[in-house]
Amino acid sequence: MASYDYDLFVIGGGSGGVRAARVTAGLGKRVAIAEEFRYGGTCVIRGCVPKKLYVYASQFPEHFADAAGYGWSVPKAKFDWRTLVANKEREISRLEGLYQNGVEKAGGEAFHSRAVLVDAHTVRIESEDRTVTADQILIATGGRPNPHAALPGHEHCIFSNEAFDLPELPKAIVIAGGGYIAVEFANIFHGLGVETTLVYRGMEILQRFDMDLRRMLHETMEKKGIRILCQEIFTAIDKRPDGRLDAHLSGGEVITADQVMLALGRIPNTENLGLEAAGVELGKVGEINVDKFSRTSVKNIWAIGDVTNRVQLTPVAIHEAMCFVDTAFRDNPTKPDHKTVPTAVFSQPEIGTVGLSEDEASSRFDDIEVYRAVFRPMRHTLSGREEKMLVKLIVDTDTRLVLGAHILGPDAGEMAQLLGISLKAGLTKDDFDHTMAVHPTAAEELVTMYTPSYRVRNGARDI
Ligand code: NDP
Repeated sequence: MASYDYDLFVIGGGSGGVRAARVTAGLGKRVAIAEEFRYGGTCVIRGCVPKKLYVYASQFPEHFADAAGYGWSVPKAKFDWRTLVANKEREISRLEGLYQNGVEKAGGEAFHSRAVLVDAHTVRIESEDRTVTADQILIATGGRPNPHAALPGHEHCIFSNEAFDLPELPKAIVIAGGGYIAVEFANIFHGLGVETTLVYRGMEILQRFDMDLRRMLHETMEKKGIRILCQEIFTAIDKRPDGRLDAHLSGGEVITADQVMLALGRIPNTENLGLEAAGVELGKVGEINVDKFSRTSVKNIWAIGDVTNRVQLTPVAIHEAMCFVDTAFRDNPTKPDHKTVPTAVFSQPEIGTVGLSEDEASSRFDDIEVYRAVFRPMRHTLSGREEKMLVKLIVDTDTRLVLGAHILGPDAGEMAQLLGISLKAGLTKDDFDHTMAVHPTAAEELVTMYTPSYRVRNGARDI
């Protein structure tokens, strides 16, 4: 048997790659991992973690305003963008250290370098200008924002990567896209006091979500003061003599702003990785093609996370990493399960969702029941805030299985995590009905909606 320097070499030190390296090293295998930028990857360094911190930052003005109804008078608040950026940096640096140390403590070796494949068992560590060999290789290089190079003036735009570290907070921003990133950042910037416009090509933002959530979020965001333009795209971005930017829209309007941000999806990081040299096949958008076990077209090379363009979510990459370790190193072939993935959009208000939307359910099932409640959450009673919460369950009339659960409102993301367990376990509406409510909470609506709001039979709504 050939002998290699390592049992496993991982390219990419994000959530998926680090998890695979750490767990495999913990099994006593010889493991190395290479990361060219910062350990922690998109999620920790310029994604989920800093995003959530900025969401918290952007919520304070509403908290201050809401406090009055509870008897507090809050002096005029002042915000300092640079303090937020610096404090965010401190926190992500701490996490970055933990990610790298975790691998090293488990016995793995962590390189700060770009690594590329030379052949199916050889990796070049560029910063050290040397090659090493490995029995198994895992590609976990993630993705990056779609640069939208066809847009004239795209070079003037920023992406989520830059948005976290802008030298100063813009006075006005225009954001293109209607997905997670565009919607979350529109709310962040608006909350921080930036005049914000969202430009989306489709009929309604957040295409993959239940229509009720989409409409209600759209309305609420507009009421807060975010301008949302649907069925519009950018045709060009021009830099003005005063340094500001003009965003030209397909409908003819020109919006002047300090920053223009593109959030038009993410593309897999597969260029110049030596994949062709090793014989690894790519798909249509440059993603690495893998089988159900995350194995590429080359037997000893695997890929997980966003680079495979399956489900672009951190917990999914981590799950794929654990399945990979089971398959490749524990003699226990395990396919990642991509069904019923709970997810949250950290918009304001938040979305938490799991399972099928009403439209998906009614196209797959002949007869569904929809339980729906729209109410003012208790915290908004004394505050006087006119913001409603939506709770919705989609049930298969035949089997009583809960097919989808959708929430818009405070802490919806936290609720989606728990609903994820219920839907994964295949619980029925009767199980929900038999569950005691926790009072007074917003989540109790989930177990107290006893009669359907309406039924949808063969695609037609009965009420
Ligand atoms: P999304 O896929 O969520 O959204 C991309 C948006 O860009 C869509 O609205 C899409 O429109 C639009 N779009 C794509 N191409 C064009 C184009 N050429 N012109 C105009 N509009 C276009 O991607 P994001 O960039 O927002 O986020 C990337 C991924 O990161 C997400 O899919 C998600 O999985 C993950 N993520 C998860 C978060 C979370 O869990 N909270 C937070 C942030 C990101 P259309 O809908 O019409 O296709």
